Amino acid sequence: MLIVMHHNASNEQIKAVSEAIGAMGLQAQPIPGSERTAIGVLGNQGYVDDTALRDLPGVREVIHVSKPYKLVSRDFHPQTTVVNVAGVMFGDQHLPVIIAGPCSVESEQQILKAADLVKAAGAQILRGGAFKPRTGPHSFQGLGVEGLKLLRQAGQRVDLPVITEVMRIEQLDAVCQYADVLQIGARNMQNFDLLKEVGKTKHPVLLKRGMSATIEEFLSAAEYILAEGNPNVILCERGIRTFERTTRNTLDLSVVPLIREMSHLPIVVDPSHATGRRSLVAPMAKAAYVVGAHGIMVEVHPDPDKALCDGAQSLTGEGFAQLVIELRQLQALMAGGQV
Ligand code: PEP
Ligand code: MN
Repeated sequence: MLIVMHHNASNEQIKAVSEAIGAMGLQAQPIPGSERTAIGVLGNQGYVDDTALRDLPGVREVIHVSKPYKLVSRDFHPQTTVVNVAGVMFGDQHLPVIIAGPCSVESEQQILKAADLVKAAGAQILRGGAFKPRTGPHSFQGLGVEGLKLLRQAGQRVDLPVITEVMRIEQLDAVCQYADVLQIGARNMQNFDLLKEVGKTKHPVLLKRGMSATIEEFLSAAEYILAEGNPNVILCERGIRTFERTTRNTLDLSVVPLIREMSHLPIVVDPSHATGRRSLVAPMAKAAYVVGAHGIMVEVHPDPDKALCDGAQSLTGEGFAQLVIELRQLQALMAGGQV
């Protein structure tokens, strides 16, 4: 529920409404706006009887929000959130962020080479999986903690923050120790216990959309993290499962402008897992920029044919460098400058 105050409501009136909400066993969250203050009501399980609130002095309107998410919604937080990853900013007023690197950390040599390639081309964050959620148990499962250490070492060498996936609560301490961003993979988007624990940290989180998650489920998953006190969530569209099998998934690009309407959280696009095909990664990365993504995450491998994971969708170093050039040209074009 949202209590909208009159534009000339006094601080005392706002305080009185907040106290009345508290007396109902609920939490009040004042949301100051340029025109007027709203007060978010949290902690209710269902419909709240508003009789004790709607006639209080200064109250203009009571809006019943029936959505299962509140903290992530624009109603509760009109300004877009900016997530700061070691000085790299995700959010409005900042250029889209480029995250790149291999699907998995495979060896010291491989991740150092990948880090050199992506850094030279202009990536701002290095990715690399150490704990891998593979569809089959006989596929490469990642190097675990050793992979985390190698990723951090590679990031330090090229001076890039790093992102990697955490699959289980037991891995959280180690991933927090070595990574700047905690990635929650598509398969874990509704692992609610994991989301809660991640929410207890202050670490930036990149939350990937589950492959059959609705927007409401996606935002509700993010709500779990914010509800525990961690506001540093970056959403990631990575394609959804449809009847189409020619591409690995179907990139649902409309969620970018849609989520920007519905939520204040930044959203990035992963065209690698969304398409599964190297040739489609650059066009869809550019499309992501056009629809307003706050960044992209792409897989890049020094030798994709030999990759232990997702080689078919990985760009070569050259391919990635070319993509970054084209993205910069596109950026300039969109800003109305000279190409
Ligand atoms: C990944 O980014 O390495 C990954 C496993 O992606 P997803 O969870 O989107 O499948
Ligand atoms: Mn992958």
